[in-house]
Amino acid sequence: VSKPKSDIEIAREARLKPIEEIAAKLAIPADRLYRYGPTKAKIDLGYIASLKDRPDGRLILVTAMSPTPAGEGKTTTTVGLGDGLNRIGRKAMICLREPSLGPCFGMKGGAAGGGHAQVVPMEDINLHFTGDFHAIAAANNLLAALIDNHIYWGNEIGIDTRRVSWRRVVDMNDRALRQIVSSLGGVANGYPREDGFDIVVASEVMAIFCLATDLEDLTARLGRIVIGYTRDRRPVRAAELMAAGPMTALLRDALMPNLVQTLENNPALVHGGPFANIAHGCNSVIATKAALKMADYVVTEAGFGADLGAEKFFDIKCRKAGLAPDAAVLVATVRALKMHGGVAKADLGQENVAAVEAGLANLGRHIANVRKYGVPLVVGINGFTGDTEAEVAAVLEFCRAQGVDCFLNRHWAEGGKGIEAMAARVAELADSGQSNFKPLYPDGMRLAEKIRTVARSIYGAEDIAFDATVAKRFEQLEADGFGNFPVCIAKTQYSFSTDAAARGAPSGHIVPVREVRLSAGAEFVVAICGDIMTMPGLPRVPAANAIHVNEKGEIEGLF
Ligand code: ADP
Ligand code: MG
Repeated sequence: VSKPKSDIEIAREARLKPIEEIAAKLAIPADRLYRYGPTKAKIDLGYIASLKDRPDGRLILVTAMSPTPAGEGKTTTTVGLGDGLNRIGRKAMICLREPSLGPCFGMKGGAAGGGHAQVVPMEDINLHFTGDFHAIAAANNLLAALIDNHIYWGNEIGIDTRRVSWRRVVDMNDRALRQIVSSLGGVANGYPREDGFDIVVASEVMAIFCLATDLEDLTARLGRIVIGYTRDRRPVRAAELMAAGPMTALLRDALMPNLVQTLENNPALVHGGPFANIAHGCNSVIATKAALKMADYVVTEAGFGADLGAEKFFDIKCRKAGLAPDAAVLVATVRALKMHGGVAKADLGQENVAAVEAGLANLGRHIANVRKYGVPLVVGINGFTGDTEAEVAAVLEFCRAQGVDCFLNRHWAEGGKGIEAMAARVAELADSGQSNFKPLYPDGMRLAEKIRTVARSIYGAEDIAFDATVAKRFEQLEADGFGNFPVCIAKTQYSFSTDAAARGAPSGHIVPVREVRLSAGAEFVVAICGDIMTMPGLPRVPAANAIHVNEKGEIEGLF
């Protein structure tokens, strides 16, 4: 038996078309492209703005049940579904997030899909791509430098150096930078203060970048960032440090969405990539809106399981950007169902129908949740080689009982032809006009009540809990005028509860809100419910160890 090909081997065998040809499928004139080599290009923002009177295509969200740590295949399903729709004659494109360098060298590997459902050039997309993340890091760090410089030159605004919440960022998993003391070394270097680094994808600039509708909106949002407080607890905005202009200048080119292609030469926009815990976890609004003007069907992914990813896609991105999704796909795998049915990681390879059946409670909760938003859905089983017929049959039967169409997809092994049946049904659902999208809670609800609503309605929790400090923080935020923001809940994606080990569909639990953070430019309030890492570390044997350039100048070891 020959070893199955790795993602990078499959990607390298692909016959990529020149990016002008991919753009031509969308009728984008070649002179509105900013080329980054032969197979990547940014699309001019003026061109995108010129499409504003065209009707929008259908928006399809790909989300998932609570995953195993390996990921259940949202990205591969998004890519496969886009290819499948094109194969059945629909004009479709996909929108994905840009991968962060951190996971590439750490544990999870690349994030450009897998098997025969990938976006290419895979190495480029995973490593640097068109430089967007570096631009975002530069903009973030410019603001950090302006803050310390302002303090150095006399601190006219009166920034309380103990209450500066703005941190520096770098796109690398580097635990040594989590907590640092900056400005050491004497008078010329400023006032020492406790500081730290986050990974770029955790930066509020990333979230802002992904929610901004154009350059003007980007500038306004950057100016509204709250970097910390004065001694008398007044929020200090980036605009007071004159930061919004130069930050926008650094981000101008990055804000143009990146056009690439799938292995089957269909168009894909890969743009922006905020964390799905302390931020909303979706690609840029600019890319999604542009795609809706250029294609009849737009398939997009939201990070993490549906309790986080879909909830934030609906309650933050769609609410704020005025998007109304037409259909959703809930990705499930037999291995994740078995894990939720109590099977240990080492035994996931063995057939266990009873465990699949026990794990279906998790899928069932997610189905009910997506329905609460009024969006029609299907379940897409991401088929793995080891899945048995009886295990798959159990999932199909459960979905039939729930009144949800369910498909066994083979896009990972076969590309678009392995997902045609689901593509046809999704297109039909999206065209049916059945969608009656509405966010879960109104803007005017109190902040704590919004969190409680998500916890009860989506997580099956009994209630939320928080101490007096957090209660005071809610009051302060509401008094400062941030009470109408949606909430962005940061918790584990492995469970509906805040205990990653609580599988299936736990209910009656309490969701503790440990800390509250304000993302005033992104326009949401982050509720930290669990140990959330904004600067990951590398594992004992990092993926980086295997990555190298071979004698032909090709990158190897990326997966
Ligand atoms: P997600 O977007 O949900 O995190 P991905 O689509 O990125 O998940 O898939 C995670 C990993 O699992 C990728 O490395 C991918 O190659 C692999 N994978 C996805 N689907 C399959 C499958 N059907 N069989 C084998 N491996 C798969
Ligand atoms: Mg993904």
